[in-house]
Amino acid sequence: MLDAWVERDPRILERQHAHLRAHGFIYPMTSLFLAVVFTFIVRSEARSGLLGLWLGGMVALTAVRWSLLLWRPSRVETTRTWIRIFLCLTVLSGLLWGLAVWVLPRPALQWQILAASCAALVVMGAVPGLGMVRGAHTVLALSALVPTIAYFLVGLEPERLLIGMLLGGFLLNTVYAGRLVTATMLQNLRDRLSDQQLAHQDPLTGLANRRQFELALEQEWRNALRTERPLSLLMMDLDAFKDYNDRYGHLRGDECLRTVAQVLRQAMRRETDLVARWGGEEFACLLPATDAKGAYRIAEAIRTAVQGAGILHPGAPAGGVLSISIGGATLQPRPGQIRFMLVEAADQALYEAKRQGRNRVVWLDLEHPHGRYLTLVSLEMD
Ligand code: GH3
Ligand code: MG
Ligand code: MG
Repeated sequence: MLDAWVERDPRILERQHAHLRAHGFIYPMTSLFLAVVFTFIVRSEARSGLLGLWLGGMVALTAVRWSLLLWRPSRVETTRTWIRIFLCLTVLSGLLWGLAVWVLPRPALQWQILAASCAALVVMGAVPGLGMVRGAHTVLALSALVPTIAYFLVGLEPERLLIGMLLGGFLLNTVYAGRLVTATMLQNLRDRLSDQQLAHQDPLTGLANRRQFELALEQEWRNALRTERPLSLLMMDLDAFKDYNDRYGHLRGDECLRTVAQVLRQAMRRETDLVARWGGEEFACLLPATDAKGAYRIAEAIRTAVQGAGILHPGAPAGGVLSISIGGATLQPRPGQIRFMLVEAADQALYEAKRQGRNRVVWLDLEHPHGRYLTLVSLEMD
């Protein structure tokens, strides 16, 4: 049942995790503090063995809840597991509060009201902390208040029945409030994410835009420095595209850019590969942890796929269909180098591809002292 509430969208999941983690120390602490004060107040009234066991359970559970904070999940699936465990521990904490009233002797009504109030306080206070995760507050409220209400309803004594009904009303109210807070928080989060996505997306093709590309390049450059792995970049430019627009008009030109974007998207192999619209009819593709040979193959696959899309263009160098020229470069970043070196190199290779006649891939070897252009054959011989 808990699974149905765990978000699928990794970006939302990540923020939920951050939110739960940010408040993951304070809530168990206040709950424990309340449990200690409650135990102190009722110590002479309650069945001492049971009360001690109850407090012991609360201390142990608090320790487990805190220790969950020591685990920092790094992948989406483990973040999901983290949230599932968090929810289970929340239910257990609710259940312990639901049992608080049961450790007291039957006639001690004022202490039972105290136990119920503590449970209600914990539930009410948890609304903002749990609000970000759908269902989290509801399960806490149910597990804390249903056993408490059941206690007051058992025996059908008029005074206790009334308290039970009052608590029932409180439960409905707090569940409603919790759901309202969750709906508002999640909607705000979704709005923020979609604004963010729009700001990083090219509206015509839906690909990442230049801004997103630059952010990704910055991050992947740092990763490559740390992991000492190569980073490859392809710069791509449609051939004779001005002529295409002149022949068919800008609307057909736009349609064509969308088709090419789809071809590029399909050519990406890994989750970390990023293809972006650089501007106009130019695209860039960032391939982390990919060496020159691997990146060259991807470039060649892109070039053939664009040609294979069969977009009619009588003015193109590829004999009647639209084609693309690609310049590529690979670098294993070293301290002191700047990331724009890679962009400049790929750009230079693209220029060379155009100069050599278009519809081809040209590679610039950055390891060579003066830079030299490579073909797939020379790459395979290396
Ligand atoms: P080359 O083979 O040297 O790349 O020739 P080219 O004609 O593609 O190069 P140039 O840079 O001279 O022309 C790019 C053209 O791309 C100019 C413009 O008509 C077209 N273009 C740029 N952005 C867009 C766009 O958003 N939509 C459409 N339809 N056309 C665009
Ligand atoms: Mg151009
Ligand atoms: Mg062009």
